[in-house]
Amino acid sequence: MTTALDSPPLDLVLDDIVRNHRPRTEEGSVPAGIPHLSSPPFSRFGIAVATSAGDVFSAGDADVPFSIQSISKVFTLALALSADDPGALWSRVLREPSGTSFNSLVQLEVEHGIPRNPFINSGALVVTDHLMEGFPDAAGHLLRFLSREAGRRIGGQGPFIDEDAAKSELANSSRNLALAHFLKDFGNLRRPAQAVVENYVRQCSIMMTCVETAKAALFLAQDGRGAQGTVVSRSEAKRISSIMLTCGMYDAAGEFAYRVGLPGKSGVGGGILAIVPGEGAICVWSPRLDSKGNSLAGTAALADLADRTGWSVF
Ligand code: GLU
Repeated sequence: MTTALDSPPLDLVLDDIVRNHRPRTEEGSVPAGIPHLSSPPFSRFGIAVATSAGDVFSAGDADVPFSIQSISKVFTLALALSADDPGALWSRVLREPSGTSFNSLVQLEVEHGIPRNPFINSGALVVTDHLMEGFPDAAGHLLRFLSREAGRRIGGQGPFIDEDAAKSELANSSRNLALAHFLKDFGNLRRPAQAVVENYVRQCSIMMTCVETAKAALFLAQDGRGAQGTVVSRSEAKRISSIMLTCGMYDAAGEFAYRVGLPGKSGVGGGILAIVPGEGAICVWSPRLDSKGNSLAGTAALADLADRTGWSVF
């Protein structure tokens, strides 16, 4: 991976990033309504970079599993696009920033059941429904994909679904169920609303480490080629990254593009995935969130890393 000529080796940079960005005092928030996300200590901080050259660099709590939450939406989209005619999916979901909260009901009603993009909840429900056409156990299919791409460290557990967390989130999923029923009413959901939301919540409840997440996302940095072969075409890989850039960070996509300059996708578990096209995939995790739902320390760390390395799509 190329970095600025005068910069130190990446492992030293990541160690320094951990030293500078690991939270020392409790700031930020945890999401309401998903109780298990408040359990990781505020001082958790991990970062990993998987490179196209086949190296993995990591520091801090990069081997501690966390709840990937909405980062799963990137992978589900890739699987849905690779499983079926992409045109069929894009007639059901748009590719525009939403400008409203990620679980807004109002926008879905005004726009006749066509979600603004695949990374807001309504869009992800449509993508999950689409994937369920070929794979009724969409969450299981996603988990197998992630396990294959991430590989298994000696002694490492690999990605898994936190079923207790999924059950508890499902019990608090009135809004996601409402979105699914809305979609159904507009004729944009084929499977039963309950089954789609169940799959969606289990996808969000996948536990992965920063190292595993970076490795699993590497296909996006290398023209769609993953560890086990082609995941999506070169054009689809570019398009998924472009949707990450415009829609991946809730209502702060513009701010993230300004500060970091890379396609990113965050989850309310505190993880952020960022792609450096041609070079590698980065995953950072720190559980406390800013007012937009993005990891506070994670965003700052990515801005710092991008400055130090010169990585940018601009
Ligand atoms: N499971 C969460 C929800 O559906 C995901 C939120 C997120 O990470 O954006 O609300």
